[in-house]
Amino acid sequence: MQAMPELTLDLLKEKLSVWKGCELAKTANAVLGEGSPHAEVIFIGEAPGQKEDELRRPFVGAAGQFLNELLASIGLKREDVYISNVVKFRPPGNRDPEPIEKEQCMPWLKLEIALIRPRVIVTLGRHSLGHFFPQKTITEAHGKPFPLTDQITVFPIYHPAAALHNGNLRSSLLTDFQALGQFLKTLRNS
Ligand code: URA
Repeated sequence: MQAMPELTLDLLKEKLSVWKGCELAKTANAVLGEGSPHAEVIFIGEAPGQKEDELRRPFVGAAGQFLNELLASIGLKREDVYISNVVKFRPPGNRDPEPIEKEQCMPWLKLEIALIRPRVIVTLGRHSLGHFFPQKTITEAHGKPFPLTDQITVFPIYHPAAALHNGNLRSSLLTDFQALGQFLKTLRNS
């Protein structure tokens, strides 16, 4: 009997690049997450945009620049964390992903989470929050930790793209990141 190759993030990326289980795969490039395979924190956005589709990497456009700044504000670098999306292909014209597209792509995100085994999942925006806590709204939930399992806490935050042209959201994101930094400190000391 042939041994099964061990599932790794690299193998997952390879498999996603040839997967056609979602209509969006016909018009867009596959974008898996990237970052540390041992990350304590996973950041999960909505879906790739134009730049992400071009470079086949998550959060490398304007929202990604802001995410990098937010990470730096609490002493983190991209390489320290893992950054991914609910949907693995760019929806045409950057429209919101459809429920079916989120559902079809979900096994990939579940595998990423299972491989990394993070302690904290930071949801960026309502699509990502909606997967873990469909009843919660981002307005009430942002900036606070919510236990998901015994091992994992979800920390919802607004999507960085929403803050690019909205000063109030920008300061809310900066404040929420400070709260996230404090939460991570407490977690590490517990
Ligand atoms: N917005 C997202 O939700 N994901 C990206 O990768 C880029 C922008």
